[in-house]
Amino acid sequence: MSATPPSGPGVLRIALDTPLRRLFDYLPPEDLPLGAMPVGARVHLPFGRRQLVGTILAHAAGSELPVERLRRVAELIDAEPLLDDTLRGFLSWASEYYHHPIGEVVAAALPRLLREGAPALAALTHWSATAAGTAALAGAPLRRAPQQRALLQRLIATQGASSLDLAEGAPNWRGTLRKLSEQGFVVSHEEPVTLQDAAPLLRVQGLTLGSEQQAAFAAVRAGLGGFASFLLDGVTGSGKTEVYLRVIEEVLARGQRALVLVPEIGLTPQLLQRLHERFDTVIAPLHSQLTDRERLLAWRDARSGRARIVIGTRSAVFAPVPQLGVIIVDEEHDASFKQHEGGFRYSARDLAIVRAQQVGVPVLLGSATPALESLYNVAVGKATRLSLPRRAGAAATPTLALLDLRAHAQHRGLSAPLLLAMEKHLGDGNQVLIFINRRGYAPTLLCKACGWIAPCTHCDARLTVHRASDTLACHHCGAQQPLPTGCPRCGHELRPVGQGTERIEEVLRERFADVPLVRFDRDSVQKAADLEAALLRVNSGEARILVGTQMLTKGHHFPQVTLVGVLNADQSLFSADFRAAERLAQTIIQVAGRAGRAAKPGEVLIQTDYPQHPLLQNLLARGYDGFAQAALAERADARWPPYSRLALLRSSGKTAQAALAFLEQARAQAQPPMQVKLLGPVPASMARRAGRHHAQLLAESPDRAALHRFLADWLPQLDALPEARGVRWSLDVDPQEVF
Ligand code: ADP
Ligand code: ZN
Ligand code: ZN
Repeated sequence: MSATPPSGPGVLRIALDTPLRRLFDYLPPEDLPLGAMPVGARVHLPFGRRQLVGTILAHAAGSELPVERLRRVAELIDAEPLLDDTLRGFLSWASEYYHHPIGEVVAAALPRLLREGAPALAALTHWSATAAGTAALAGAPLRRAPQQRALLQRLIATQGASSLDLAEGAPNWRGTLRKLSEQGFVVSHEEPVTLQDAAPLLRVQGLTLGSEQQAAFAAVRAGLGGFASFLLDGVTGSGKTEVYLRVIEEVLARGQRALVLVPEIGLTPQLLQRLHERFDTVIAPLHSQLTDRERLLAWRDARSGRARIVIGTRSAVFAPVPQLGVIIVDEEHDASFKQHEGGFRYSARDLAIVRAQQVGVPVLLGSATPALESLYNVAVGKATRLSLPRRAGAAATPTLALLDLRAHAQHRGLSAPLLLAMEKHLGDGNQVLIFINRRGYAPTLLCKACGWIAPCTHCDARLTVHRASDTLACHHCGAQQPLPTGCPRCGHELRPVGQGTERIEEVLRERFADVPLVRFDRDSVQKAADLEAALLRVNSGEARILVGTQMLTKGHHFPQVTLVGVLNADQSLFSADFRAAERLAQTIIQVAGRAGRAAKPGEVLIQTDYPQHPLLQNLLARGYDGFAQAALAERADARWPPYSRLALLRSSGKTAQAALAFLEQARAQAQPPMQVKLLGPVPASMARRAGRHHAQLLAESPDRAALHRFLADWLPQLDALPEARGVRWSLDVDPQEVF
């Protein structure tokens, strides 16, 4: 085939935030040559009838489209590239690996205001009205220009404004401002942001490292300047954070910068506070609690290099960091590093490793309960394990024990020995933590007469009773309704069955009437201020009993807690998901890690109906490490990751048939090579969720390259399937959950 080579004028190849798997060709604006349009810069452009912001990803000699069909870019936004070569390379890699359209990948990497065209420079342009402008407002010249009038009025009212403020106000502010400026009605001046070039100051000297910490630090230090992958495996309280701080100190001393990723813990990253306490330097935080404007400012501090440390959740893995010296991923096992909603599903932990490799810097993954994937990487020589087996200082490691629920009397979810242990620890003046991974009052509302169970009308799920608000709520779709007074089927009285945090709180308040209690869950702790207040009550010693969900297992240290009770460990013992055991072991060890800091040894009691279960036995006898070895062996036998690679094609539709029909067509279309197996399609484990029906088709292969070649051929065909029209579908490469 002899395709005519593309010819014609130079074109810009542009990424747009659309689900189309391609770049878009545009001509430069009339007044600018191609060479003046830097690759990596953003532009305003017409797209259909809309104006969009796009990012230039390449220059090309010509287009496959005839030149008369090419449209022109309206306006260049950035004089300097927003995304440098390395970052663009990284985003392209992510787009290919996750088989996701590049335009949406670029969009995921940028704060919302940048996607909408806000200025990216650290220097702010300040605009103000001139005397002529003020006069013009009163007179004739602007009578027919309402937008110019409005903008001028605004500038006068606010005594000037930065381009950033203006970008938040009006959509067409640039054009309007240009017209005002041409008439001499406004003037601008630049306010540069100064870079702090001097070596950053340590506010306080770090602690003297213990010998294991020192060895870990030395290994990472020796690796600086090139790619190396480290797994810092240390029990909670073993001093991992102190090692991070020393590595960062070293990196900063070399004039480089550090990127730190932390889990989405809902409120504020703990590590951020420790960084501020240690370093007198600009730190850019990129977490989920920021307003759009704060996020933009932090991003700009990262991009300009003003910030020496960038710390953030998942999407911060895409943050621009000039002179990057190290990437640190704290609590690397945490599921929140995986983006598992929306179109672009990626693992920030895995991407951090790739980015470190591309930039040529070390990546340091830290955890008390490393992901099995990370332990596997150590086993096959892709990562170096650095162990901190002991708690720092004098703190002892807590002991774990099982409480056989079948053998003991229970008082509404709490076994007699657990209550006795609570009495003892409280009597000694210590604090007690009760972990139950379920919020609300009770997970089920049941009619004892006819067996009716309150269902969610949008999901295949039961509704949870919330007493505080007298509602029934669905924890899957968010639907809420008032608590019914009687059974809708037979009129009989209804009974809440099972326990949630609210109910455990009620039971404990009755049982330990004069012991102050504080509850940690999404209903009781909604804002950062709530969390602060709750933590203050615990740390001051005022509150003595802590009841809470997952929220309690992350980040916080409770030095006066000496007893941890785990109430409903059994939930995931028999889950079909191949990762359920790993998650459970991690949760138990993480919650156990909250107990017994300082000099007080801790005790952890796990209530279970299955004390003989191998997972629990293993965990108790051999710790997380022993559990992990056994779990990896099981994964190897069953050919689950990391011994195979998975990609999950999900679809959802208004009917189960629509969701399945798309996947059946996708399967019929597929021509997998021998090494790739397709399993399904099947309905998802909760088939109906938020009124939509979900189904899935799993692709599995021991050979990653073969799987990806197959996906690269297969996916573009799916866009074209007629069955794709009625459904939403997405591909999840390396899915976290497959059932
Ligand atoms: P991790 O991040 O592993 O949970 P941290 O770094 O937070 O552990 O350390 C736990 C506690 O031990 C903290 O109070 C910390 O100040 C203290 N600590 C850490 N390293 C040392 C050290 N080398 N000497 C004394 N105390 C230390
Ligand atoms: Zn009934
Ligand atoms: Zn629901």
